[in-house]
Amino acid sequence: MRAVQITAFGGPENLKVVDVPRPEPGANEVLVKIVRSGVNPVDRSQLIGRWQWLQLPHIPGSEIAGTIAALGPGVSGLKIGQRVGVALRLFCGRCYYCLRGQEQLCESDPRSATAPAIPGAFTEGGYAEYTAVPAVNAIPLPDEVDFDAACTATLDGVTAWHMVDRARVEPGDCVLVVGATGGLGTFFLQLCRLRGAVPFAVTGTPQHAGRLEELGAEATIDRTAQDVAAEARRLTDGRGMNVVLDPTGAASWPASIGSLARGGRYATCGILTGAEVTLNLAPFYTQEQEAIGSTGGTRLDLAQCLDAIARGTLRAVIYKHFPLEDAAAAMAALGDEHRLGKVLLTIE
Ligand SMILES: [Zn+2]
Repeated sequence: MRAVQITAFGGPENLKVVDVPRPEPGANEVLVKIVRSGVNPVDRSQLIGRWQWLQLPHIPGSEIAGTIAALGPGVSGLKIGQRVGVALRLFCGRCYYCLRGQEQLCESDPRSATAPAIPGAFTEGGYAEYTAVPAVNAIPLPDEVDFDAACTATLDGVTAWHMVDRARVEPGDCVLVVGATGGLGTFFLQLCRLRGAVPFAVTGTPQHAGRLEELGAEATIDRTAQDVAAEARRLTDGRGMNVVLDPTGAASWPASIGSLARGGRYATCGILTGAEVTLNLAPFYTQEQEAIGSTGGTRLDLAQCLDAIARGTLRAVIYKHFPLEDAAAAMAALGDEHRLGKVLLTIE
């Protein structure tokens, strides 16, 4: 089968189109014929060598939608030809956390203490014609959800859904959405509105303010020209934000924590711009603020996200499609200054 491998750590030029044997589904696995594969910053983290334990060559790709091509031994309840999205989290189903219904915290692989145990990172991923995944991760798609939207739901949709839950976004909350034009940000804005909250978009591409406001943003803050924390206070009568949803990491931390209201909740699900931050505990405790971690989401989160897309209350925002062979260009497009929404690989 055709696939794209990371052959060395570095830039997009290290993504090579190769011909490799089609995987065989093992016990309790299914083979998925991939139709769409998302290009996610998590793939770029692998490419640039942030996860040094990755064995090269490696097929990245953690956002996968397609049809079932074969069933491994022991699989029941799924059919060949069925349309599926691949649930994000690899989990054992037997550990302390899995038994509590928190499969996103599964402790079966010690590497998951510092990196999310997801397909395409802990397995060979979706930049390929086929991939083998655990049958419990193959989630049937509602008829109304096309492969573009399904692919987008499998990582960004489910991660946004879970983090909005973790941050306890409530009606009337003022919410700062950092990285608003990204795959996660476009979902955060919509999910805040669905909960009756008021989201404010932070972006480096203010020309998209109109599109962000269509997705739910009450106002847009240009982080390249404005003081984000000061603007967050100005927009909330001086109080600050009840919630900050920041998937971007250390670079935006001072502005994000500085934007919080008394009783405010900061939530993070990624470290693209760095992992180490400092925190002054004095204002943090006296104002009863919270910092909340969130990682991916569960199959329930994915099912709920797909239902919302099927009902038309949530929509995927797509930036561009690329053929599998152009994965390097697709990866480069992640960094496009004017990108709004998802970059997808078309595999047909
Ligand atoms: Zn487990």
